[in-house]
Amino acid sequence: MSAPKPPDPRTYGHHIAGGRVDGPPLERRDPARGEVVARYAAGTTDDVNAAVGAAAAAFAAASWRRIPATARAELLEKLAELLERNADRLAALDSEEVGKPLRFARGDLALGIGHVRHAAALARTTKGDAYTGLAPGYTVLATREPAGVVGIITPWNFPALILLQKLPYAIAAGCTLVVKPSEFTSSSTLEIAALCEEAGFPPGVVNVVTGTGAAAGHPLVTHPLISYVSFTGSTRVGREVMRASADSLTRVGLELGGKAANVVFADADLDAAADAVVFGAFANQGESCVAGARLLVDAAIGDEFTAAVVSRAAALSVGMPDDPRSDIGALIHHGHRDGVHAAVLAGVENGGKVLAGGRPPHAPELAAGAFYEPTVIASVGRESPVFQREIFGPVLSVTTFGSEEEALALANGTAYGLAQSVWTTDLDRAFEMSRGLEAGTVWVNTTSDGSPALSFGGVKQSGFGREGGEEGLREFTEYKTVQFRGEPRVSPFRRPDEKP
Ligand code: NAD
Repeated sequence: MSAPKPPDPRTYGHHIAGGRVDGPPLERRDPARGEVVARYAAGTTDDVNAAVGAAAAAFAAASWRRIPATARAELLEKLAELLERNADRLAALDSEEVGKPLRFARGDLALGIGHVRHAAALARTTKGDAYTGLAPGYTVLATREPAGVVGIITPWNFPALILLQKLPYAIAAGCTLVVKPSEFTSSSTLEIAALCEEAGFPPGVVNVVTGTGAAAGHPLVTHPLISYVSFTGSTRVGREVMRASADSLTRVGLELGGKAANVVFADADLDAAADAVVFGAFANQGESCVAGARLLVDAAIGDEFTAAVVSRAAALSVGMPDDPRSDIGALIHHGHRDGVHAAVLAGVENGGKVLAGGRPPHAPELAAGAFYEPTVIASVGRESPVFQREIFGPVLSVTTFGSEEEALALANGTAYGLAQSVWTTDLDRAFEMSRGLEAGTVWVNTTSDGSPALSFGGVKQSGFGREGGEEGLREFTEYKTVQFRGEPRVSPFRRPDEKP
């Protein structure tokens, strides 16, 4: 049985060395009703120093350094069980703080728990390489060592899921960590940190400092004891993180913004494609890095296919996150909603035609919330800001193409490269397109798909590094070679005729 969601407004401190450390309160209002639902501690450099110190002590302790990877796998399996037991409660926190419909928050938790189990399986099969044929009597073991104390910085759109795409792989690798969640959505991260200790993680292995990016995120990136920073967020802040890490040469992994396209050819299963285009564009209110925010459609079917998409978009139900009928909840806050609306207006100024939405909903019961109708803008050219910029809201642009080459050029015609989808029944075309698309993930006849086994990440300005799966685990390790000689090597300084 899941414990009930804490009463609102819930109050939290930082989670450091297994204990609570209070700080000045940072209020979170839920974006659907505008009520204060949570108070987190506003973190400072001192809090970050204390958390990194706790993580460094936990990393150095024999109780963590010496436990075998199989024991860490057992801890992760125990954590997965506890997460399952608490999934409804955690989903309710994310739903309330993000504004997303509860059923989708539950789906996020299920996927996150899949990552915890997958990371446990990888920990159980930890292995390296052995080089045995390089020279007589010369054997080399190549191992993956834990990176050390790592920093994890997460955004607000999938608070529990993105944490669970990182934390279990860091643990499987043998790291200890400090997490800085988004200042809008910190509750589930703090609750998950407490569950880690309930699962048996030694205190100090998982620490959380809450607060803003400037006050708590920046000192984490620049802390000299942090050996790797796994960052998910906007491209703008990703650049800042990279700049800040330059002095200490701290390695960073950057999972940044996206502007995915659904490329629909006339030979595709058009019903399935229309469903997927609408899901890809509007799931999570469009506040998803892999949102299929651009529809690129074969001009031969442009009008008919766009009409099918518009009617599906208009049928989506915008409503309260805790209403099971809602397909689309509230955006993260009113300022963001206003930014989404400004982007739609800029699209219209650049020649776009609004075919659905384009405004907040009229329903009086939604008036206090940061809601926005699912919006479709047609006749969008490649230079339009709606085509180029990540809007991160429920806005789909429509552009037609006349040939495969043009479709490819349009799909690749933004600064981003996170994910792309192609819809066609022609196998040659599917392969040709998937080879040409610049993205870390290409979906063919599907969208927003995945599995914990598949490592995920971007190219171009969507960042670098991978998370999830084996590649994701590797990010939290350093490669080491251990070289053995059966007979000590003769020094090259010795002349061939010289006796030892
Ligand atoms: P954001 O970049 O504003 O913030 C992300 C995190 O960074 C937050 O915790 C924030 O407090 C922190 N931060 C801000 N300034 C910082 C600084 N100077 N130093 C260190 N940390 C700092 O992003 P957001 O608005 O929370 O999330 C939306 C963005 O995240 C979108 O661009 C979206 O595409 C991206 N995203 C990417 C992926 C992916 O896997 N590629 C997944 C989800 C979201």
